[in-house]
Amino acid sequence: MLEKSFINSLRESVGRKNVLTKKEDLICYSYDPTMNHHLPEAVVIPGTIEEVALVLKLANEAGVPVTPRGGGTNTTGASIPIRGGIVLAMHRFDRIIEIDTANLCAVVEAGVITQDFQRQVEELGLFYPPDPQGLDMSTLGGNLATNASGPRGFKYGITRDYVLGFKMALPDGRILKVGGKTVKNVTGYDLTKLFVGSEGTFGVFTELILRLIPLPESKRTMLVIFDDLMAAARTVSAVIQAKIIPTTLEFMDKEAMRVIEGYDPCGLPIDSAAALLIEVDGSERDVPAQMVHIEEVCRREGAREIRIATTEAEAAQLWKARKLAFAAMAKVAPTLYVEDVTVPRSKIPDMVKTISELALKYRLKICILGHTGDGNMHPLILTDERNEEEIQRVRLAIDEIFKAALEMGGTLTGEHGIGMEKIKYMEWELGATGVDVMRKIKQALDPNDIMNPSKVLPAEAAE
Ligand SMILES: Cc1cc2nc3c(=O)[nH]c(=O)nc-3n(C[C@H](O)[C@H](O)[C@H](O)COP(=O)(O)OP(=O)(O)OC[C@H]3O[C@@H](n4cnc5c(N)ncnc54)[C@H](O)[C@@H]3O)c2cc1C
Repeated sequence: MLEKSFINSLRESVGRKNVLTKKEDLICYSYDPTMNHHLPEAVVIPGTIEEVALVLKLANEAGVPVTPRGGGTNTTGASIPIRGGIVLAMHRFDRIIEIDTANLCAVVEAGVITQDFQRQVEELGLFYPPDPQGLDMSTLGGNLATNASGPRGFKYGITRDYVLGFKMALPDGRILKVGGKTVKNVTGYDLTKLFVGSEGTFGVFTELILRLIPLPESKRTMLVIFDDLMAAARTVSAVIQAKIIPTTLEFMDKEAMRVIEGYDPCGLPIDSAAALLIEVDGSERDVPAQMVHIEEVCRREGAREIRIATTEAEAAQLWKARKLAFAAMAKVAPTLYVEDVTVPRSKIPDMVKTISELALKYRLKICILGHTGDGNMHPLILTDERNEEEIQRVRLAIDEIFKAALEMGGTLTGEHGIGMEKIKYMEWELGATGVDVMRKIKQALDPNDIMNPSKVLPAEAAE
């Protein structure tokens, strides 16, 4: 329980109405899309970096855990206040401070919704490519904290590639300023690389300087349909080997398409084995040539049919199907495990085969989606947390999926991060030395372990 005097200090720091302690309010900040949930003891809603710094300083002195929260859309339990304490809700940090067209960058607050920002920059003919698929709910601060990315990561890279600088409140109450508007900056260690992806365990992002690029002149979308699952998987590698870099190269298997069609019919080919949703962009002159080249490769690899969107509405209809996936799965099964193992792209067929075999071995319904252009697979396991015996099989299947990805030279997570869900696998990928180095960094920045504790790193073994 938080001391009354501590709650009063929080109220003095951010204003009475910005500290919530009623149970009905706390419940709203106790969960995320995973099965995890835990009530905080207070929700604090600061409005300035000074207020954030003050709250962290108070919490640090009192040893109270602080869990930063953006949109709460992460899929790993990262924003669950699992050790109680304070949830620091960032929704008052909602200003786009500046879109600087001369320096191709923007200064924004951390609580801005990703899609709102993208729309505003696009109105000015500029482009912020990172497109995690929860972008209508996620915040830019949450995107930095998870180093999020989406379908466009294949061509344009990930959130970290677009971060020029930031302001962060540290657990001891100091304010850290990193980078600026320059595209080059090699002054000292690269703190951007260290802090982006730190999942709220080092401090709280408040203000971000993000790189923008010119909006591509033109784009086209196609749906490539296959009767053979493995042919679809092989086509991903074939496109890459043909030295074509589409904007997106998304994979959907039959199971995924059936679930989506059952939720909201979008015209997906449910009689097929798999489909690739491919988008290309660039200049008016280049895009048609890229399309022809991709079509050739797809047909050579055995595509049954290629549907090319002729209007923006048709393209939007194809993307709608992909974007509905999570909602559609949630309707079919009460519990959804969303994994995001990532393998070298040449291993995509092997990973698709492994996941299909594991679905049979453990008698599970697993749909496969993936941002396969960058080797990122989403095995989505549809289950019911009340069925303990099935959950046991789910856990065994997940263990094997991670093991297989690592054996293929891949990684546990390409975009969602570790949170609470993947902590037990950290040593599988990093080894004891890797985990130890990360732990030492965390201890140096947050010696009292108040920032989002029990996330990312496994607990230290007792002496
Ligand atoms: C339908 C759906 C589709 C998704 N698709 C993708 C996808 O394609 N790619 C992808 O990468 N992710 C995807 N996600 C996951 C999620 O959207 C991302 O992880 C996103 O970046 C989380 O942002 P958020 O604002 O919701 O952060 P939250 O979920 O609130 O928090 C995530 C982590 O960031 C920390 N955090 C939040 N704000 C701050 C801050 N200001 N300072 C420091 N730490 C902070 C939290 O403590 C937590 O550890 C999807 C989620 C959903 C629900």
